[in-house]
Amino acid sequence: MGRVYNFSAGPSMLPLEVLERAQKEMLDCNGSGQSVMEMSHRSKEYQAIIDEAEALFREILNIPDNYKVMFLQGGASTQFSMVPLNLASKNKKADYVITGQWAKKAQQEAARYIDANIIASSADKTFAYLPKVDKTMLTPGADYVHITYNNTIYGTHYNTMPDFGDAVVVTDMSSCILSEEVDISKFGLIYAGAQKNMGPAGVTAVIAREDLIGDAMDMTPIMLNYQTHADNGSMYNTPPTYAIYICKLVYEWVKNMGGIPAIHEINVKKAKLLYDFLDSSKMFRGTVVPEDRSLMNVPFVTDSDELNAKFIAEAKARGFVNLKGHRTVGGMRASIYNAMPTEGVEKLVDFMKDFEMNN
Ligand SMILES: *Cc1c(COP(=O)(O)O)cnc(C)c1O
Repeated sequence: MGRVYNFSAGPSMLPLEVLERAQKEMLDCNGSGQSVMEMSHRSKEYQAIIDEAEALFREILNIPDNYKVMFLQGGASTQFSMVPLNLASKNKKADYVITGQWAKKAQQEAARYIDANIIASSADKTFAYLPKVDKTMLTPGADYVHITYNNTIYGTHYNTMPDFGDAVVVTDMSSCILSEEVDISKFGLIYAGAQKNMGPAGVTAVIAREDLIGDAMDMTPIMLNYQTHADNGSMYNTPPTYAIYICKLVYEWVKNMGGIPAIHEINVKKAKLLYDFLDSSKMFRGTVVPEDRSLMNVPFVTDSDELNAKFIAEAKARGFVNLKGHRTVGGMRASIYNAMPTEGVEKLVDFMKDFEMNN
């Protein structure tokens, strides 16, 4: 069987060039006579790989010098605890905007340690929009405000950054990192699990402003303290060496594609193909209000569960896999991350047109 078009929300497609390069370097990376998987993380060969990964990540995302980059384990979900433990030791309170399940989980975990206020929620409409939020809604003395920048399950995305004034803004960018240019200086801390748009599962990137590191609560486990990892170049203990190496290959791929602005342009074009069709179709429709639509995750439905199931099955038979929507939304979801070629979306839309005609 050839390669399928994989619309999975995560782990998700990786660029073919990256997989081929990894294959080529599998047994002997860069003349070392070893696979990256076999290298000591303390070797100079591996140090070069992680250094280059960080340098490329900084370059393509334009990360200012007063921010630390950390490659951590435990998934984005571990950040749900690390953020409050590290950033809220002063006033033990923070604000959360509930825009989906991940935001809710982040808030629930924070509430175990601090006063985690919900300042807005879009639960009333199954998270099909983003509630309007701004600095007037923030709790006085809150140590930070947390937003989920792209809501993977519901397909919403902050197309304009809310104005939180001088507040420390923490954001979960797991499903949109590297998809668009970001002004890093607007954020105190950004975290992203790699397995959506950056690499394989097993590594989570954290970008944190230096002045926010070093003030963790006393009870913070050493492995959950940003200072531990920032002071040791993500090498306090054995890092997820191979996952970081694949991320490095992805960063190189992004750079070779013309960087994030060029990738973003392609992402806009890909998403437009799908949304334009959904807006013109009599059978399919998108579930998200137009102004908050994500470029990465596109949920859509028909009016019939039977038709949805038929569509998913027929799509799969034609090599369009993982189109089933999240169980809380139903219907379908096409995740079209950086690695999904334009051709994959064009062919999906052609298939949707055929399906509509035949049904
Ligand atoms: C997938 C996802 C998570 C959870 O990531 P894990 O690495 O599985 O912990 C958190 N937030 C968002 C926005 C996600 O898409």
